[in-house]
Amino acid sequence: MKFALLTEDITDTAGNRGKANFTYLAHGKALISVPIIHQKMRFIFSNRGFTVNYGHKIKAIDHGKKILTFKTPDGDQELGYDFTQVVPPQRAPDPVVNSPLPFLDKKIGEGWVDVKKGNLQHKRYPEVYAIGDIAGVPKGKTAASVKWQAPVIEDHLVAHIQGKEGTQVYNGYTSCPMITRVGKAMLIEFDYRNFLVPSFPGIIAPLEEGWIPWLMKEVAFKATYHSMLQGKV
Ligand SMILES: Cc1cc2nc3c(=O)[nH]c(=O)nc-3n(C[C@H](O)[C@H](O)[C@H](O)COP(=O)(O)OP(=O)(O)OC[C@H]3O[C@@H](n4cnc5c(N)ncnc54)[C@H](O)[C@@H]3O)c2cc1C
Repeated sequence: MKFALLTEDITDTAGNRGKANFTYLAHGKALISVPIIHQKMRFIFSNRGFTVNYGHKIKAIDHGKKILTFKTPDGDQELGYDFTQVVPPQRAPDPVVNSPLPFLDKKIGEGWVDVKKGNLQHKRYPEVYAIGDIAGVPKGKTAASVKWQAPVIEDHLVAHIQGKEGTQVYNGYTSCPMITRVGKAMLIEFDYRNFLVPSFPGIIAPLEEGWIPWLMKEVAFKATYHSMLQGKV
């Protein structure tokens, strides 16, 4: 979505918007799993002149003829393009998929580790915890989620080693700085319940495009992510 909106914005700034048609094809029934955010994104795409189609799963790309083929509820559909950006489906890496760790029901998830959503402990192997994208929980596939997951796992891991029960709970915190234009973004934050959980109430409205979230994403978050990788925050 960020890529699509940025491409449209840059086309517009270059004075070429009138020469281009933009189509956004979502694989599922919504743009994002949180209904209120789906509605907001639908509004933005519509305002910016995008055609949005749902239930389109890409099957093939013919680079020579520049044709995309989609599997849709109404059968296969083709779409011509001059430029396309395709996002591959998210899945666990093979060593995890082929281990005993994923859900036993192979229809659930894409090989994610079968953990309890509150403490990220494996449901069948209590000595195993999963953190980050690999955790098979309904939300939380963002780096920002890891920041909230790590202390919970630490609490439960230490308690487990001591033969006690940990008390901290991961609430599904997920954060996505949704870039909508060059210089504009929305800081979208939500939890397992699909509630918006703004970190800066009164300063950054959760579903409002502004320059502060853009600056945070461009300047502050980059430094934060690098610090996180070095274990400093
Ligand atoms: C385009 C895009 C934009 C995003 N923007 C944001 C954002 O603004 N904010 C945010 O919070 N999150 C964002 N995310 C999500 C964020 O990047 C992920 O949630 C985060 O990287 C997950 O971290 P992880 O360590 O769990 O997994 P990963 O970062 O995927 O790390 C897994 C690592 O394991 C390695 N690996 C895989 N298989 C093997 C193997 N067999 N052997 C050894 N190593 C292996 C991989 O190479 C990789 O380095 C974005 C994601 C994408 C794709």
